[in-house]
Amino acid sequence: MSAIAFVDLAAQRQRLGDRLDRAVARVMDHGAFILGPEVTALEQQLAAFSGARHAVTCANGTDALVLALMAYGIGPGMAVLVPSFTFAATAEAVALVGAVPIFLDVADGDFNLNPALLPDGLAAARRAGLTPAAVIAVDLFGQPADYPALSAFCDAENLILIADAAQSFGGSLAGRRVGTLAPITTTSFFPAKPLGCYGDGGALFTDDEDVAARLRSLRFHGKGSDKYDNVRIGLNSRLDTIQAAILLEKLDIFPSELTARAAVAQRYTAGLGAVARVPILNPGRESAWAQYTLRVPADRRPDLCRTLASQGIPTALYYPTPLHRQTAYQHFPRMADALPVSDALSSEVVSLPLHPYLAPAVQDQIIGAVRDALT
Ligand SMILES: *Cc1c(COP(=O)(O)O)cnc(C)c1O
Repeated sequence: MSAIAFVDLAAQRQRLGDRLDRAVARVMDHGAFILGPEVTALEQQLAAFSGARHAVTCANGTDALVLALMAYGIGPGMAVLVPSFTFAATAEAVALVGAVPIFLDVADGDFNLNPALLPDGLAAARRAGLTPAAVIAVDLFGQPADYPALSAFCDAENLILIADAAQSFGGSLAGRRVGTLAPITTTSFFPAKPLGCYGDGGALFTDDEDVAARLRSLRFHGKGSDKYDNVRIGLNSRLDTIQAAILLEKLDIFPSELTARAAVAQRYTAGLGAVARVPILNPGRESAWAQYTLRVPADRRPDLCRTLASQGIPTALYYPTPLHRQTAYQHFPRMADALPVSDALSSEVVSLPLHPYLAPAVQDQIIGAVRDALT
């Protein structure tokens, strides 16, 4: 039996056939490699898909976070509240603009920022002598965070709410798609994300015309009326036209892929709910299912991964160390001495293969292997 892929990009390529090759060839023929017509078309389609007024593409999901922070003038002397249980880029972007990330614990149910802890985060920022400026909520594994509660708090405290939707593009809350759930949303098109390109890519979403205009300037060296008129310090952070051409083809089949992802998740939950803690969607949420992540007792996890690996079933640990314990980040302030949920999750989570092309029979094999290993 052939090895099982954690994410099967080859199956997706086969489905798209030579559409991808033709899309790339068209760009090579017209030669507008930077901000070519496919970039404009993609931005229009991303905005239409999400329901946000503006979509602005950029070089990757980390730059998208940096650009969001820059667009609101967040920098030295300011604090940004972030979850500790996330990918490093969430906090890295804050440090890159000279601000200070304040680590908060996450909720036990959805692994996202716990809105009830925001006041503790604010207090920690003020104890450190910093001005609280923003909150970055992460939609971990594809499920949108609690934006109604987060927005209410941020509005009352005059904080910018940034949605790090690198894993959740395609998800929704109460019928509103990711991209419209916060004043500014960032995402990533890294190949393994739910909507991925064939290299690095990213995008931002906002309804605010002025913010969108600042983002377009910031991603292009802070350009003003033209590229040799520089009105602010920016970055070189554009999405390649070739990547935009590939994303246009993939966006076309993305809705059906989201449906297929959700079906895989449902089958896992039906098969595994009795032997492990399975992901729970909060009311009104649709997840993009970037990951299907189980929680198992910490002392069972190494054995489970080893047993599955011996049967050709790959697993991944997202994330084995919370950021407040990482060498590069441990000196930053946190809301309290201990962040118990983040610590527990890092020793208990394990993600299973999930992609739109995972055949039911293969899934049943994975389910059987997990059940055998845990019972
Ligand atoms: C992938 C990811 C990013 C960074 O995206 P890149 O395109 O790899 O720079 C940021 N935040 C989260 C939560 C991610 O999963």
